[in-house]
Amino acid sequence: MITLRNVRKFYGALEVIKGVDITVEDGEFAVFVGPSGCGKSTLLRMIAGLEGIDGGDLILNGKRINDVPPDKRGIAMVFQSYALYPHMTVAGNIGFSLSLKKVPEAEIRRQVDAVAEILQLTDYLDRKPAALSGGQRQRVAIGRAIIKKPSLILFDEPLSNLDSALRVQMRAELQRLHRELKATVVYVTHDQVEAMTMADRIVVLNKGVVAQQGAPMELYHHPNNEFVATFIGSPK
Ligand code: ADP
Ligand code: MG
Repeated sequence: MITLRNVRKFYGALEVIKGVDITVEDGEFAVFVGPSGCGKSTLLRMIAGLEGIDGGDLILNGKRINDVPPDKRGIAMVFQSYALYPHMTVAGNIGFSLSLKKVPEAEIRRQVDAVAEILQLTDYLDRKPAALSGGQRQRVAIGRAIIKKPSLILFDEPLSNLDSALRVQMRAELQRLHRELKATVVYVTHDQVEAMTMADRIVVLNKGVVAQQGAPMELYHHPNNEFVATFIGSPK
């Protein structure tokens, strides 16, 4: 589905992504995990097209997309800080991108209802964001992303602003959503537990390089190096 081949990124003279090779298969829930500053957000922003690529290739469904503009990639991104439109209702927020495209009102309503059903927001469609809980707001942000029917959804630490009980609940909900949408997901977190519990495939990053990638249990039982062993908490 998506392949990064020897991808590099510089900020000025500082190389922050140092020749990264990653493959994510169609339909997978892939988690990029690593300590703060290792380059997770930079990688996601390059995949989304929000940052340029200074070296290597980005391949989506067999096509090189290095120079394809963000809105032509069929990729949606959900950020940690999800700025909803405060003056719009939940329905307005979720349907906003369709109203920009001049989709007829009745069709927008139909699609918003379908998305709200999946995200369990049906009873909240007429509320403003201020009258929602943190988890509900995050679901609206996800709704805004999935209404565009992306084939690839990128999440950048989407749960880190939520309290721990809600975070655990939202992990399960995101997994259910992944199954229902049959989309490919790339999910970024610094939280090893989140990575281990959610991922089909884990990519461990350290200082702009891939330390190891594979199935969670493979990394846990067969870490390739000391960094992965310590970071994942493999048994000694
Ligand atoms: P992570 O998301 O894993 O915490 P980032 O991708 O945000 O890491 O950052 C990777 C490195 O790039 C860090 O050293 C960070 O300070 C640096 N960096 C990120 N964005 C910029 C920027 N716009 N300009 C300069 N340096 C940046
Ligand atoms: Mg980040």
